[in-house]
Amino acid sequence: MTNALRALDIDLHLHSQTNARAHEDRGPLTLVRGDGVHVVDESGRRYIEGMAGLWCASLGFEEARLAEVAARQMRTLATYHTFNHRTNDACVALAEAISAISPISGGRIFFANSGSEANDTMVKLAWYYNAARGRPEKRKIISRTGAFHGSTVMGAALSGLPHMHRAFNLPDQGVVFTACPNHARHAEPGESQEDYATRLAAELEALIQAEGADSIAAMIAEPVMGAGGVILPPETYFPKIQAVLARYDILLLADEVICGFGRTGNWFGSQTFGFLPDMMSMAKGLSSGAIPIAAVALSDRIYQAIADQSAEIGVFGHGFTYSGHPVSAAVATEAIRIYHEIDVVGRARRLGAHLRAALDEALAGHPLVGEIRSVGLLAGIGLTADPATGRDFDPALRVGAQVERRCLAHGAIIRNMGDNIALCPPYVIEPGQIDALVERLRAALDDVADTLS
Ligand code: PLP
Repeated sequence: MTNALRALDIDLHLHSQTNARAHEDRGPLTLVRGDGVHVVDESGRRYIEGMAGLWCASLGFEEARLAEVAARQMRTLATYHTFNHRTNDACVALAEAISAISPISGGRIFFANSGSEANDTMVKLAWYYNAARGRPEKRKIISRTGAFHGSTVMGAALSGLPHMHRAFNLPDQGVVFTACPNHARHAEPGESQEDYATRLAAELEALIQAEGADSIAAMIAEPVMGAGGVILPPETYFPKIQAVLARYDILLLADEVICGFGRTGNWFGSQTFGFLPDMMSMAKGLSSGAIPIAAVALSDRIYQAIADQSAEIGVFGHGFTYSGHPVSAAVATEAIRIYHEIDVVGRARRLGAHLRAALDEALAGHPLVGEIRSVGLLAGIGLTADPATGRDFDPALRVGAQVERRCLAHGAIIRNMGDNIALCPPYVIEPGQIDALVERLRAALDDVADTLS
């Protein structure tokens, strides 16, 4: 990027999830191309992309087959909508490909453009479903502290991260929060994972009773909390939560935007964590992040109620111009075809085991490392001021952000969420590249440990 373009980026572009004032001084990091698990910046520096961008580029940063299907579809039918009974071959093929792997069988697939839109859609469908069965007062949504469900008004309202709320003055959407299932951080001394899960289920039940089950439509949850810090629930957490929700006729909505398409070592995170959602949202890995597209899978029970209601009203009054867009759908279908060919589930398990072993070996006993968490090809590393006690750093030190900056200097892109480090590499990463990524992270941690000592 020329200096003129850098200046224009500062003058014209309000960046997502960025400190706008700091950007005026710091300017952009400009990526110009990608190959496999690497991205290259304007100065020619190559980075191992340990986060698959924003947890999405499952097949890396250039995949000729995705480019080819996009170009072919562009030449055939570049755009069309799905309102008023219209469809196209590409979106039907994608609905079939998703249905073939979805744990929610026999329902329908709805298309959107982003994870936020998909989550908004699940909430609207939960409301529509309840209205359809004569229960419109059932409309509150339970979410969890630490959750991230997107940046639209509802996506942000559902998110349990303070910066998603502060100063936005979001309208009250009737979202109530229950605890984040973080055993390492929130369990009582000596409390087992099992007992902790039982306690959280009891807390959820108490919340439902306090709010009134008749006022609650659904609970939304990421199988693994991503932006909240890669938080893995105890093994029996979701089955216990699901049992409570079922008792009170409350839907369970899975946000599979990060976990979907193999990330946790199964096609969907709900399969890894032992629950069957009523609806699930997917995006990101759906198209390997190569083109915007998202989807919601809904159960037959919900579909039937929606279909009856739409017949009564005359139309199902929801949908986006680009729902089922043929180019996006063609790319996503090809991505899923490649996932099958490379056995993405087996690959995530094998590479995930390699990543875990490499992290354990490189970071064991490191003075900044508290906890290493992982499932499939997804890992979180909790930083601590004192590994013996797990004491937190003073947030003002911004230790996680320092590690992220030092990683860049060592040629690796990771993400820090406060003092948690996330790793979510593309599935096309090779074991040797995992080792290099972990070595660079280790070097960054050493640099920061030196500055703190
Ligand atoms: N849900 C989860 C779990 C996410 O991590 C994200 C984005 O990071 C979203 C929803 C929102 O997706 P999008 O940015 O495509 O709207």
